[in-house]
Amino acid sequence: MSIALVWLRRDLRLSDHPALRHAAAEHGHIIPVYIHAPHEDAPWEPGAASRWWLHHSLTVLDRTLRQQGSRLIVRRGDSLAALRDLLRETGAGAVYWNRLYEPASIARDHAIKAALREDGVLAESSQATLLVEPWTLLKPDGHPYQVFTPFWKACLQRLPPAAPLPVPALPGPGQWPDSLSLETLDLLPRIRWDDGLAAAWQTGETGAQAQLERFCESALAGYRQGRDWPGRAGVSCLSPYLHFGEISPRQIWAAVAGATNGDPLGNQGAETYLREIGWREFAHYVLYHWPHTPEQPLRERFAAYPWREEYADLLRAWQQGRTGYPMVDAGMRQLWRTGWMHNRVRMLVASFLVKNCRIPWREGARWFWDTLVDADLASNTLGWQWTAGCGTDAAPYFRIFNPTRQGEQFDPDGAYVRRWTPELAKLPAPALHQPWTLSPAERQAAGFTPGLHYPPPVVDFATSRAEALAGYERIKGR
Ligand SMILES: Cc1cc2nc3c(=O)[nH]c(=O)nc-3n(C[C@H](O)[C@H](O)[C@H](O)COP(=O)(O)OP(=O)(O)OC[C@H]3O[C@@H](n4cnc5c(N)ncnc54)[C@H](O)[C@@H]3O)c2cc1C
Repeated sequence: MSIALVWLRRDLRLSDHPALRHAAAEHGHIIPVYIHAPHEDAPWEPGAASRWWLHHSLTVLDRTLRQQGSRLIVRRGDSLAALRDLLRETGAGAVYWNRLYEPASIARDHAIKAALREDGVLAESSQATLLVEPWTLLKPDGHPYQVFTPFWKACLQRLPPAAPLPVPALPGPGQWPDSLSLETLDLLPRIRWDDGLAAAWQTGETGAQAQLERFCESALAGYRQGRDWPGRAGVSCLSPYLHFGEISPRQIWAAVAGATNGDPLGNQGAETYLREIGWREFAHYVLYHWPHTPEQPLRERFAAYPWREEYADLLRAWQQGRTGYPMVDAGMRQLWRTGWMHNRVRMLVASFLVKNCRIPWREGARWFWDTLVDADLASNTLGWQWTAGCGTDAAPYFRIFNPTRQGEQFDPDGAYVRRWTPELAKLPAPALHQPWTLSPAERQAAGFTPGLHYPPPVVDFATSRAEALAGYERIKGR
């Protein structure tokens, strides 16, 4: 009976896993393998929060595999060398994996497929991470889409996706090859800052399914409005699970269809939600067709934008949630504590950094990369370029989010700000969104001294907005 390796990367689940299914259908013995090779993602090696997630996700995956009589074989180093070692040690003749779409992954996987085939090994990859593969969809003129709505319309012509695949039987080999312990990968922080992450998340496939079920039951129907309120449980929080492949977009589609009697596109909440899954597809599509965008603006004139020259203190205030703007600070502290931030607040803090502070968007993208548990090269790049106005289908440059107005509109009772900036918890709403306007009597009643308990605004909103627009005027005609 032949032996196959299944090379797991960011598809850390057993259900709806085409590579596992294909391998199990063709071979009698399956060896699931994880190879730790962060240098192959350079310069976008996983950040600290992603490494934390990865450690726990691999732990759960190994446990789940063992419940099936299988196990996860862990190696580190160069992926091709590790695969060749394993093929030699086990006598396996085939390697299966699911495709990734980041430029570095594509280059590596192409090279590995060619090298293995040259060795006479069967090397097969499958579609599992996206609903539509980026190279299969072009405008009628043969160019890639740059605008989301027509892109999504074209995707919908190919959807709904096929039903998700069940978990296959995974008989192991007579003798398992050696495996490193997960601890030796050194993924967890040495100085413990991760309590908040552990309290916020249940990593792994079961956690993903539970989260999806909760969302479909309690928030899907009201998602169109509910997704705008960061202080309420109106969104799915599935992004880290999607990033690490603990759930597939096809499984999400099937669950949403199931919750809407098979008509997800005829239901307001479900249709809006699936559009967001569509934005994830679009992000990968844009990265595939414009692979330079993690480093360079898609709209070239933005390369000449007059960013602030000295900004170390301002950047630190933003990172630490000490800008003096409560919605911005609440978002940045939610990020630090839980590794996640609500989408509305991501747009706000990004706009504040790029426009009010005039700090290059790549600084923000790098901070998100290190601190988000869902840090994803495609979605992070799209999100930052969209906010900075320099990406595809981007927000118009003059759209500069006002943190005070955003707070008053989307956190009117102050629940979100109170939760993440506890020093403001006793202030009355909506004034807590601009604590500098509180009367002396209100300050006294709340025992609050601006400047002592909470910093004054690091930039004046109106002045910084005008400076941002003036900067844009300088590059507009280029
Ligand atoms: C500056 C900035 C940076 C971002 N960085 C990331 C990132 O690194 N990783 C990431 O997954 N998302 C990123 N996003 C997109 C979005 O904020 C998150 O996907 C979303 O907040 C995750 O929460 P959720 O799962 O509850 O989303 P839901 O509202 O429940 O949406 C469901 C899913 O749709 C996808 N999605 C939703 N909105 C977007 C979007 N705008 N772009 C792409 N996919 C989307 C996500 O996979 C998400 O899990 C970023 C947005 C901005 C503005």
